[in-house]
Amino acid sequence: MEEIKETQKLVANDRCDVCGAQAYIRVELEGGDLLFCNHHGNANKSKLEPLVINWYDQSEELTKR
Ligand SMILES: [Zn+2]
Repeated sequence: MEEIKETQKLVANDRCDVCGAQAYIRVELEGGDLLFCNHHGNANKSKLEPLVINWYDQSEELTKR
């Protein structure tokens, strides 16, 4: 049985670690999680890619409503 952990879901209160805008992307790294807005997620993607365990892009989920 697989459940999506509540902690993996971004909410409106989650903030980009770089600029403080609403976070749409959660990046799971060995050392912990990072949150990014769309802009900084994409800006850091290639840099972080070798270290990423999971990349959750929730921009679609959060913008449609
Ligand atoms: Zn940002």
